[in-house]
Amino acid sequence: MSDLLPSSRPRILVANDDGIFSPGIKALGLALAEVGDVVVVAPDVEQSAVGHGITIRRPLRFKHTASAGFGDIPAYRVDGTPADCVVLGVHLLGRPDLVVSGINLGPNLGDDLTHSGTVAAAIEGLALGLPAIALSQRSNGGEYDFAPSAAYAARLAREVLARGLPPRVLLNVNFPAGTPRGVRVTRVGEHRWEDTILTRQDPEGREYHWVAGQSTAPDADDPATDYGAVDAGYISVTPVRLDLTARDLLDEVASYVPEV
Ligand code: MN
Repeated sequence: MSDLLPSSRPRILVANDDGIFSPGIKALGLALAEVGDVVVVAPDVEQSAVGHGITIRRPLRFKHTASAGFGDIPAYRVDGTPADCVVLGVHLLGRPDLVVSGINLGPNLGDDLTHSGTVAAAIEGLALGLPAIALSQRSNGGEYDFAPSAAYAARLAREVLARGLPPRVLLNVNFPAGTPRGVRVTRVGEHRWEDTILTRQDPEGREYHWVAGQSTAPDADDPATDYGAVDAGYISVTPVRLDLTARDLLDEVASYVPEV
């Protein structure tokens, strides 16, 4: 929960996984500066799909960066993962009232949540006891207009700062391509990637492998899912709980696990 005093400006930590020079984080940081005191801490290069990796076997650099277009907003780049950025940002710059990650170039829907660096930065906020929002956007024919999404993010951030979120719960927000038809509060769907391994030869004749994949969403037609909402042109807002326990299976599993 936020320990925000009613009279003080909230502190907002902004991170992402596309890197500090991404247009998505620039639009987000500038929009959130209307809501509170923003600090930006982001990877120095793209870290998409690294999940919730934390760098523990080498040192990390935390460098003030004036050239990323944030104006007066303090901005720092880290040679690590999105989660590293949130850990370092919170410990070196002070605890924020809210962690906001994005806006990612491309959606994070369904099973993407398990490998998304955008969502992992928000999860790291939860791990530190902070409310968090992750934001992603589907492209419109390869183009992104982040201004309306960032404005919506600022409105949502105001609500979350005022209301707080339960512990270990984040909001995963996905913007559709083009102008949204509305907003749906959704559940996590089943979007996943059917992995394809492309095997090639390097210039010295040695094999290498490239993991590619086809996107597949078996419940894309279900309007209650995140994928279904974005596919139908709606903003999807999913409350995501970090507790992954399959509670309905506790008794059944207890009935067959071997005793010692
Ligand atoms: Mn990304």
